[in-house]
Amino acid sequence: MTKINSNYQKLQAGYLFPEIGRRVKAFQQENPQADIIRLGIGDVVLPLAPAIISAMKDAVEEMGTLQGFHGYGPEQGYDFLINAIIQNDYAPRGVQLKNNEVFVSDGSKCDSGNIQEIFDTTCKVAVTDPVYPVYVDTNVMAGRTGAYLTSGHYEGMVYLPANKENQFSPPPPQEKLDIVYLCSPNNPTGATLSREALKAWVDYARQNECIILFDAAYEAFISDPEIPHSIYEIEGAKEVAIEFRSFSKTAGFTGLRCAYTVVPENLKGKNNSGESVSINALWNRRHCTKFNGVSYPVQKAAEACYSPEGQAQIQENIQYYMNNAKTIREGLQKLGIEVFGGDNAPYIWLKTPQNAKSWDFFDQLLTQAHIVGTPGSGFGPSGEGYFRLSAFGLKEKVNEAIERIQKKLQL
Ligand SMILES: *Cc1c(COP(=O)(O)O)cnc(C)c1O
Repeated sequence: MTKINSNYQKLQAGYLFPEIGRRVKAFQQENPQADIIRLGIGDVVLPLAPAIISAMKDAVEEMGTLQGFHGYGPEQGYDFLINAIIQNDYAPRGVQLKNNEVFVSDGSKCDSGNIQEIFDTTCKVAVTDPVYPVYVDTNVMAGRTGAYLTSGHYEGMVYLPANKENQFSPPPPQEKLDIVYLCSPNNPTGATLSREALKAWVDYARQNECIILFDAAYEAFISDPEIPHSIYEIEGAKEVAIEFRSFSKTAGFTGLRCAYTVVPENLKGKNNSGESVSINALWNRRHCTKFNGVSYPVQKAAEACYSPEGQAQIQENIQYYMNNAKTIREGLQKLGIEVFGGDNAPYIWLKTPQNAKSWDFFDQLLTQAHIVGTPGSGFGPSGEGYFRLSAFGLKEKVNEAIERIQKKLQL
């Protein structure tokens, strides 16, 4: 028989969301009357903005004409979209990018998962804990770790605990890393990296010749003007960082699929002979070999996010979710529950009352208030004793959920 990639067998069977599904189903079967409200999922609920739909419709019509037909486009994305990205997302923040530094793709999950393959399998990789599982699992698949340990860590991977004590913003470690994944605003903790914290990481990366993989999928939810939206707002970051951005949460593209990755020309790695190699050239080679571009109508839809109407409509949706976040945050605070995040991110990260285990609190919330959230321990060992609630829900449901928690949860 053909040998498989046995690194896949080190992976923990997708446990978190299947287990949530199992417990909710069991509860629903025993309590068919219960009206369960789900605040556990990291997916948007509001429909796409009219400006986006209109641009996509026009592009579809164009595709049906001889003059307007588009076949394969540039793998890296059309210039109309790349120009819009550079001029709207970066130039106003004082960041100058060249067109060949932006790679349009069908998602940040793929990009943040695929990026590791242009680096050596012996690279020392760090993630924050709790963490978006994609960063960890893709390195496991590539053989960059050893076995899964009872502690909840993979052997050979460096975990940087993010907790209350460090404001969920772990500082750079003493040891030398080759690659570090940072996510700000953070999924799941809702924390953001301040300018100082980000500068400490950029300085660390420059001193230690480390590359930062910066996931900014939630940058649009930042309201505090002091918090950087891009790592390139920090001086010198173009020599040490790759940035991932997505239209998924910003503009409701989770079902439409469009994202982009910035790989600056000045970012360098070294080959086996110790010679300096352009990371941009490597990523371009990978992207063109394995990806054939995002469809023309979807790129037109993404471009429409930057029109004045598009911007206004998208901002309205973001504000809607952030009002939900406020409702959740303040509602829980009233009950004396300690909450984090939810001010510059659509996630509320709460300390479980009485220090309950994450899964125990999950069961309590489900049985007493009929609300589904996500146990913090599912995102890593340091998430134990915490719990994630998502602001991606309909306002009426979120309001009702909080009222129910206030009335029914026995604290
Ligand atoms: C939702 C999310 C993304 C975006 O993923 P897409 O594949 O672009 O939909 C990226 N990173 C994190 C941490 C996320 O939660």
